[in-house]
Amino acid sequence: MQYEANTLENHWLPFTSNRDFKQEPRLLVKGEGVYYWNHKGEKLLDGSSGLFCVAAGHARKEIAEAVGKQLLEMDYGPHFQVAHPSSFELARKVAALTPDGLDYVFFCNSGSESVDTAIKIALAYHRARGDGQRTRFVSRERAYHGVNIGGVSLAGMVRNRETFGAVMPGVVHMRHTWSPEARFTRGQPEKGAELADDLQRFVDLYGASTIAACFVEPIAGSTGVLVPPKGYLDRLRKICDTHGILLVFDEVICGFGRTGKAFGAQSFGVTPDMITMAKALTNGAQPMGAVAVSDKIYGTIVDSAPDHAVELFHGYTYSAHPAACAAGIAALNIYEKEGLFQRAAELSPYFLDAVYSLKGIPAVTDIRGYGMLAGIDLATDGKPGARGYDATKRLFAAGLHIKFTGDSGIVAPPFVAEKSHIDQMIDILRKVFSQY
Ligand code: PLP
Repeated sequence: MQYEANTLENHWLPFTSNRDFKQEPRLLVKGEGVYYWNHKGEKLLDGSSGLFCVAAGHARKEIAEAVGKQLLEMDYGPHFQVAHPSSFELARKVAALTPDGLDYVFFCNSGSESVDTAIKIALAYHRARGDGQRTRFVSRERAYHGVNIGGVSLAGMVRNRETFGAVMPGVVHMRHTWSPEARFTRGQPEKGAELADDLQRFVDLYGASTIAACFVEPIAGSTGVLVPPKGYLDRLRKICDTHGILLVFDEVICGFGRTGKAFGAQSFGVTPDMITMAKALTNGAQPMGAVAVSDKIYGTIVDSAPDHAVELFHGYTYSAHPAACAAGIAALNIYEKEGLFQRAAELSPYFLDAVYSLKGIPAVTDIRGYGMLAGIDLATDGKPGARGYDATKRLFAAGLHIKFTGDSGIVAPPFVAEKSHIDQMIDILRKVFSQY
């Protein structure tokens, strides 16, 4: 199939260098298992599970059939004061996977919406307790929390923030956890737990009574896979408990097996008050996000409202869309039936061995990894991001799709990948990175 540049003009692509892309398009027209096919009929390995969503591999029949059936049965129904049974089933399934005590699930349509929803739930919770002056949020440098105004305000990525002015007020950022001494650490760095004390410093500076919540990704995914130092998340939990601050884990990437367990919360043994999720919730087959909240938060907000009153003035037209619920139920059934979280845990050592074998290539300046998620930094060529973009294109031409953020490549294969697929991915990475 050939595409003329002018037939592509009208779509303004997100997070894309549109002018360059439209000169030399990279179109994906088919996906199956761990593979994509481009418009020239060439087959590519999917080394990033799309954008970390396709944990069970592409084109899963069970999901497609469930969505098709649902659309023919009932295509759409609102969830304001009426509801469809599938959302309750999906909520029960999600609650069965989250840590004990996080039993209530609010649905939305994306990771970004899940973050903004969690921000609003945190504010509503404190207000319901008569603590409505807690309006400040703490997050972290090098965090990615989506692109809505709340999430951008929390995020710690300069290019995502600087265009948009002051964004949401009252957000302060802890230091990120990357350190040059920990380069090429596999798993959790030994040192760095004390970076969590930045939260205590904000308590000392602003007063705990002004702080609503602390948001972190258990592993900061999009900025290059920053694995938390040992003890770091526990320390955040402790500081939050001491001062009545809610702890929110943004598990949009970490959730659904990426760390070897259902959620990073379980892998790292720390239970937050809320978990945001999206992506692999439906195996990427339908747009959907969710926030799992603690019984305490749900109970406080719901019980604070008068009988018959709406308790939380928040929701989306497509919250718990029936087709998304059908996809979510089918995806979680696949994960369970095929034991895919366990498979991710078992495949992880092989995957990490393979990724860390790239150490020694001159352009590779750091590798980090945990579970089925790894970040590989390339030396910049003087213009941050230019080499990462060049590598994206070279890898695509060589038959591998991976997501780059700046000069960090993020490798996160579907859990159904065979060892031979991982070997092929690494061969292509080695060949391309050795060209620099
Ligand atoms: N939060 C985290 C941790 C993410 O990694 C992402 C996306 O990569 C988001 C939020 C935003 O999700 P979405 O792109 O579905 O809005």
